[in-house]
Amino acid sequence: MYEGAIQDLIDELGRLPGVGPKSAQRIAFHVLSADPADVNRLSTALRKVKELVRFCTICFNVAESEQCRVCRDPRRTNEVLCVVEEPKDVVAIERTGEFRGRYHVLGGAINPLEGIGPDNLRIRELLQRLGTGEVKELILATDPNTEGEATATYLAIMVKPMGIAVTRLASGLPVGGDLEYADEITLGRAFEGRRAV
Ligand SMILES: [Zn+2]
Repeated sequence: MYEGAIQDLIDELGRLPGVGPKSAQRIAFHVLSADPADVNRLSTALRKVKELVRFCTICFNVAESEQCRVCRDPRRTNEVLCVVEEPKDVVAIERTGEFRGRYHVLGGAINPLEGIGPDNLRIRELLQRLGTGEVKELILATDPNTEGEATATYLAIMVKPMGIAVTRLASGLPVGGDLEYADEITLGRAFEGRRAV
C-alpha cells in the first residue's frame, strides 16, 4: 500500500477489466515516470471518450454523432441486419470486409446468473427496427458461448414468425470464446458459411 495519489491511481486502475493488482501497480509507476506530455494525452483521451462518444440512436454502436458511421453510410444495404452483443464485435466483423449490411448492438447477452434477461438488452428496439419490413435477413452474430447461444435461440424464436430469414454464423469459431478474439479469416468464413436457424 502506498500513500495518497499513487495508491488512488492503483485502486482506480485495479477496477478496470483484466487489470489485476500487480498490473495496476506496474501501470501506476509507469505513469509516474512517464513524460508529462504522454500522461496528458492519456488523460485527455479518457475525458474525451466520456464527453464525445455516445451510442448510435439507430443501432447502439458507439458514435460521435446521432448516428454511427455504419448507419450513416448510404452504400450499405438495409436488407441484412447483423445482431451483435457489443460495439467491439462490430469492429471485429468490419475487419473481415465480408459484410455490407447494418448492425444492431444488443448491449450484452442473456445471462440469468447475472440477472440479465431480454428486457435488459436492446431487443425491443431490434423488433421495432424489424417491424418496418425492410430487413430480409437477420444474422445472429452473438458470441459462440452459452449466453450467446441462448440469446440467439431467443431471438430466432421471436423473429422467425415475422417472415424474416434468420441465420447464425457457421461453426469454426472457437466455442466458449468471444467473437472479437476470432481472427479475420475464421470470422470471415463463418460469415460466408452462415446457415439458416
Ligand atoms: Zn448505428
